[in-house]
Formats: sequence, structure tokens, C-alpha cells
Amino acid sequence: MIIYGPFVHSVSLSEIEYVHRGLLRINDEDGTITHIESPVEPADVEKLVQSNGWGGEVLRRLRRGQFLSPGFIDTHTHAPQYPNNGIGSQYELLDWLDNVTFPGEAKFKDVDYARKIYKEVVSRTLSLGTTTSCYYGTLYLESTKALADICAELHQRAFVGKCNMDSNCPPEYIEPSASASIEETRSLITHIQSLSPSPADALVRPIITPRFAISCSPELLRGLGELAKEEDTRATKVGGYKMAIQTHMGENAGEIAFTKQLFKDAKAEKPWDGTYAGVYDRFGLLGERTILAHCVHLEEKELQLLQSTKSGISHCPISNFHLRSGCARIAEALDRGIKVGLGSDCGGGNEAGILPQIRAAMNTSKMVGMYLPASSNPGSISQQTHLSLSNTFHMATLGGAALCGLQDVIGNFKKGKQFDALLVDLTGKRGPGVWWTAGEEGEEGDASWLESGFERFIFTGDDRSISNVWVRGKLVGGTDA
Ligand SMILES: [Zn+2]
Repeated sequence: MIIYGPFVHSVSLSEIEYVHRGLLRINDEDGTITHIESPVEPADVEKLVQSNGWGGEVLRRLRRGQFLSPGFIDTHTHAPQYPNNGIGSQYELLDWLDNVTFPGEAKFKDVDYARKIYKEVVSRTLSLGTTTSCYYGTLYLESTKALADICAELHQRAFVGKCNMDSNCPPEYIEPSASASIEETRSLITHIQSLSPSPADALVRPIITPRFAISCSPELLRGLGELAKEEDTRATKVGGYKMAIQTHMGENAGEIAFTKQLFKDAKAEKPWDGTYAGVYDRFGLLGERTILAHCVHLEEKELQLLQSTKSGISHCPISNFHLRSGCARIAEALDRGIKVGLGSDCGGGNEAGILPQIRAAMNTSKMVGMYLPASSNPGSISQQTHLSLSNTFHMATLGGAALCGLQDVIGNFKKGKQFDALLVDLTGKRGPGVWWTAGEEGEEGDASWLESGFERFIFTGDDRSISNVWVRGKLVGGTDA
């Protein structure tokens, strides 16, 4: 497939590139971008196609009001919580878990029910432009296997984890022991690995998922840290990927206090012992493939620990408002070079896609800027009054890819990367979505509409403006699919 037209993508934390007359060729077999060129004048497209011997391939010319964007990466979400989306905002985290989340997740013991919900979750999030998703399942092995199967079937790039929880959970929704939890995690990893013939190139991957420190005994956390190490050793031998780990951290004041109380007996040997992040570090759970959701309330020592272990943050701004967790100071993390992606955290949040998270990340940073003194460090991100669109679009795409260890595979348009992309259509047939009047913004041939069109899409767009969603070159969603 060859696509000729405008595209917009992130090239760094501080730069969005707007390409007005770009040409991309995608290998139909494996979804890889094999050629990328710009600017190509309209009159030269045919010549370029013929001279490269691509004459037999589908050529799509985008019309005015259409552009390509990389697909969005949701670095933190809970597939079984989508049915709870939009309810429970009267609670803070720990009460919300007991009253809304755990009873909802317990229903997923029924694999048929799980399959029905998970199909809806995956197809709905694809239509919202989420081409990669980091999913927490439930504690149930079989229904979490079903989630991985559905991601593979519907062709959504995904990390799928079974929640580990053997402590401090209600009797009807808890695992019987640390060893049972670890064994089932092993079974899930084996199952997910069997879905792909080529381990290095798997679309759906396992992720070790201790729910949070409160729900895990020290024995369980230790066992999961060892399992991750074991998997890394195995991956080195077979040419696979390093095992990813996801968990929650520093979300809510009550949660932090309870965590510190539970793990207070640990010896204070390292500067960060006694902190929340120190608990995960002690059990070997921090590293370059660790995704820590929320991180609203981080101590200085924890920021240093994240920096030194190369662990990253999934920023979930809507959930942080919804459950009154607080405003994460993301600019400080970015200034330290800590990887940051965005997470919908459904149903802690009340939105399913990543577009609303971009807006909320900007609003959160404006709140932080209004109430906290700006950094005096010239040129730093935390000296800005708020995160820029370049910062937040990076978090939604290329930064999210880096957080998942996929920065060389997806996140923007580059030769050799895989084509996970959206066709945004501001002239879409399902109602306006984004304010757009054809011809309003300059004459045909005038490319000045692209930057404002992109900005309008980010701030006011939704799935009505996403007409095609591709994952690894395959059309998997969108209003035209
Ligand atoms: Zn969460």
C-alpha cells in the first residue's frame, strides 16, 4: 500500500513534524514502512511509483482535511473495568477498589462473560485510535488468556497481564497463595508466547502484573521479580523480548501510607528504602521495562530511583482527577529523562481513549503551573507554564512506545518501523466532530490547514474523525473499516 498526503508525527519530546506532501510505502505482508519521502509534488507521485516498480499496489491519495498520525499507545488500562467506566467518582482509590472494582472484576471468573466484554473493549479502543494497549486483566487465568486471544484475533498490539493479588483483598476476590499466583502467571506467559511463531516480533506480549504492593505478599513480589529475571535469561537465548512489568505506584495518600506500614520492617540499607518505590526495587521489579502507573506523589529519592533504574511512568491524568488522587508533576520527571506515556486507566478514569488524556495531561500541567512555583532551571520543561502539545503528543505516541520498549518498532513514521497509524479525516461523514468547513482555511494547495487541523483534532476530536486504524499495516478499525 502506498499513501500520499500529509502526516503528523512526533520526532522528539519537543518537536512535532508536519509533513505536507509525504509518501509512505507499506509492505502489505509484514506491515513495515519500506519507503518514506517528502516533499513529493502531486505531479511526481505516479512517476515515483512507476520508477520503483510499485505500479500494481494500492495507491491512496489523501484529500484536503485528511492526514496520517501514528496510533495512540495506552500504557495503562484495565480491560475488566470498562463496564465500570463513569461510575464511582464519589470514592477515593481504596474505597473505590472495594466498592466498585473488585466486585466488578470478580464477574470475570465466568470466561464467557469475559470474552463478551473483552471483545467490546478491544474493538472499541481500536476505533478510538488505541493501536497498542497495556492491559491488566483480572486475577483469573482463563479469562486473561481469553483477553490475549482476543487482542491477537482483532489485531491490537497489546501487553496482557494477570493481576497478582494474594493479600489485603476481599475473600471472594483473592488468590489462595503466592505460589499459586506465580504458577498461574507462568501459565499465562507460556500461553501468550504460544500465540506468536516469532518471539521477537510478537504483536501480543505478556507482562508481569503485581496489582500493587498492598495486594502482594513479600513472597509474591520476590517470586515475580525472580520470574522476570528468569524470562529475561530465556529471552536472551531464544532471541525474544525482555519481560515487561507493570504495577501502580504513588497514586493516593491513603495507599502510600498503607504500603509504608505494610513494608516498614525492611532494613534501611539504601537511600530509598522506606519509600514506596523502594519496595518494588527491593524485590527486583524496577528496570527499563517497568511501567509505573500514576506516580502522583513521588519523593525526591523515588525520582532518583526511577532515573537510575530507567523505570518509566504511565501518567493517567483523568483517573487522577476522577478519584481525587492529585496532579502528577510530570514535567519534573521529564526533566530528569524519565520515560512517560499516557494511560486511560479505565475505569479509574471516565474516558476510554488517549485523546482525552492528552487534553487532561495539559490541563493537569496547567494546574501544577498555577499552584506551584516554576523551576528556576532555564530551558527545563518544568520551567514552562504547562506541558506543550509536543510534550503530550510525544507521551501519547513515541514516548509511550519507549515506555513499552517498542521505540524502534512503532511510535512515529520511519523507514523500518511498523505501520501502526490513524487516518484522521476532518471532513468525516459521521457528523462534524471537529469544526471544519471545507475551503474555509485557505485555497486548495495551501497547506497551512494542517497544523491547525491537527490541533483541532487533538483538542476537540473523537472517533468520528478517525476513519482508518491500522496495526502493523492491517486495517483494524475506524469509521471506514
Ligand atoms: Zn490502574
